[in-house]
Amino acid sequence: MNKKIVIYSSGTEHSRQVESLLRERLEGSGITATDALSPDVELIVCIGGDGTFLQAVHTFGFPGIPFIGINTGHLGFYQEIMPDQIDLFLENYSEGRYRLQNMHCVKAIVRCDGVETEFAGLNEIVIRSALSNSVHLDISIGGAFIERFSGDGILIASPAGSTAYNYSLGGSIVDPRLRLLQVTPIAPMNTIAYRSFTSSILLPPDLSLGIVPDTTGPLHRIRITYDSNSFEFDHIDDIEVKLSDVSVDLIRFESYDFWNKVKSKFL
Ligand code: NAD
Repeated sequence: MNKKIVIYSSGTEHSRQVESLLRERLEGSGITATDALSPDVELIVCIGGDGTFLQAVHTFGFPGIPFIGINTGHLGFYQEIMPDQIDLFLENYSEGRYRLQNMHCVKAIVRCDGVETEFAGLNEIVIRSALSNSVHLDISIGGAFIERFSGDGILIASPAGSTAYNYSLGGSIVDPRLRLLQVTPIAPMNTIAYRSFTSSILLPPDLSLGIVPDTTGPLHRIRITYDSNSFEFDHIDDIEVKLSDVSVDLIRFESYDFWNKVKSKFL
């Protein structure tokens, strides 16, 4: 056996200690650690919290290589193991006792003056004002106009991202084995002046969401957030959001169960 892995760390004192421990345990194990991706790398180990994992996924550009997380952060929803389980991890990994959890991203294609810019989020895409004013968004589903949204913005969560920001906004928890998009309003206005859905809506994977921001007012700069990254536009013609073909594989051991994880982290 000669396996090559990349180690990506949050850089905190705790993560550095865990990294040293991991490197120590790798000696003589037949697994070599490197810092850069190469075609023969089989696994990326992230030491940190969910934020570090998301950062790694974006830094490596959704590389098609499985990830595993060692949790040195707070929640660790994506992280599979705790620092004291490094030996168990190496044993299970070496013997192939694991499965891959495949998670599809959500993508946004932003069209602006004939130029298309694409963003992918493993958790979510958020569309809101770049300032703190409300936004007015004409929303269509599968090409048919549905509503004019007025409020802080909308969040479109991937199945894996349902437990993140989406959940804080009152969205539903989705078993990540389902393939769907969840569209969750952020502080929707509902008055005689404005009408929009107040709950999340769920879309099948073959439908896309169309969004045309109102750019007539003076404060119409829009911010697109994809996981922990964001980009601002002065003018947007339209945005199309759909489930992406790009996906991320996470190593999960035999004991992993999504609903147990939800229970242990949220209840
Ligand atoms: P951060 O450190 O502020 O993380 C926010 C929290 O979200 C952390 O506790 C993290 O563990 C948790 N988290 C991330 N992904 C998760 C998932 N799939 N399931 C359950 N919990 C998850 O910010 P960051 O590190 O830059 O992470 C970016 C993520 O933070 C975004 O993708 C977004 O989902 C989340 N976020 C949450 C809120 C909120 O809940 N009010 C607001 C902004 C962003």
